[in-house]
Amino acid sequence: MRPFTYGSPSSIDQATSDFGQNSSFLAGGTTLVDLMKLDVMIPAQVVDINHLPMHGIKFTSDGLHIGALEKMSDVAEHPDVMTNYPVISQALLKSASAQIRNMASMGGNLLQRTRCGFFRDVSTPCNKRQPGTGCPAIDSWNRGFAILGTSSSCVATHPSDLAVALVALDASIRLQSGNNERFVKLDDFYLLPGDSPEKENQLRPGELITEIRVPLLPWARRSLYLKIRDRESYEFALSSVALALDADANTIRDARLAVGGVGTKPWNLPNVRPELIGKPLNQRTFEAAAKFATEGARPLRHNVFKVELVQRTLVRALMDLGGIA
Ligand SMILES: Cc1cc2nc3c(=O)[nH]c(=O)nc-3n(C[C@H](O)[C@H](O)[C@H](O)COP(=O)(O)OP(=O)(O)OC[C@H]3O[C@@H](n4cnc5c(N)ncnc54)[C@H](O)[C@@H]3O)c2cc1C
Ligand code: SF4
Repeated sequence: MRPFTYGSPSSIDQATSDFGQNSSFLAGGTTLVDLMKLDVMIPAQVVDINHLPMHGIKFTSDGLHIGALEKMSDVAEHPDVMTNYPVISQALLKSASAQIRNMASMGGNLLQRTRCGFFRDVSTPCNKRQPGTGCPAIDSWNRGFAILGTSSSCVATHPSDLAVALVALDASIRLQSGNNERFVKLDDFYLLPGDSPEKENQLRPGELITEIRVPLLPWARRSLYLKIRDRESYEFALSSVALALDADANTIRDARLAVGGVGTKPWNLPNVRPELIGKPLNQRTFEAAAKFATEGARPLRHNVFKVELVQRTLVRALMDLGGIA
């Protein structure tokens, strides 16, 4: 690891004004410190944000408010989250390991970097780490990579499970820098790689994620996160579905859904929802709707299987939540 200066400000104002040209904020450190050890991130200055007032989990008449410094484990086990948004709790509990969840923050989770092996290995080219050097993943053993939202510059999947649940629920994040604040929908926050995969989101230099807001959605009490992976614990998704369903025994009234493990960002499914709303609650409806989940997919040589896998993950999630055996 390279030498760096360290500061631990106690106000958001101070933290954002301390932030220099080559600085990184430090929350739980479970991504940042890893990448510093690998020389992937080489900040000259680390601004520890753990003393900032960015805590609290509140469920109010307009929804759920979560401070960005709340630990993943505390949010996952919070009674209001477990009751009103089980999809968030499950997405968190299926992420990483208990030890990491105890360290890692909600804001840091949303800003974790891709797990692409080339990105993490500085001896190889990678457009995301070093723009213009190329993307060796495209012609490699690319089984785990994305099929949706890819470009000729980058095909890395977005790694966060939490982000998939939050996109399905139409959540927003509060971004603050000094006295300036703005709210951005998480779905808009993440950018497609296009020609500049190094630019992953709309965060401006020195800006902090201070809060996550999830709108009130009473029927999200009936929601789940289904994650398919090579081993059942401590593994990133090959395919995942975040789903909330509003239905009676016969008909689907509404649904919210997004998929993970297959997109270069958490993948919202605007074209699947209309195929469910007002339709009979049965397997035929689910299978017909799931076909729309992979519209525009561009599989690589070794991940063609993900097209069918994500459709099947979606059907299984709908069957489980719909109470159909
Ligand atoms: C072995 C392993 C397995 C994992 N498995 C999964 C998994 O299955 N699913 C999953 O979703 N995740 C997984 N993760 C990722 C893990 O959840 C993240 O590392 C963690 O959530 C990051 O949070 P942190 O607080 O430690 O962030 P940090 O490492 O402190 O920060 C991460 C990045 O975000 C920036 N940052 C942090 N907080 C803020 C903020 N509030 N505002 C602005 N910038 C900020 C930092 O500057 C840094 O660039 C895994 C990680 C490891 C190491
Ligand atoms: S997929 Fe993206 S992150 Fe991986 S090597 Fe290619 S450019 Fe880099």
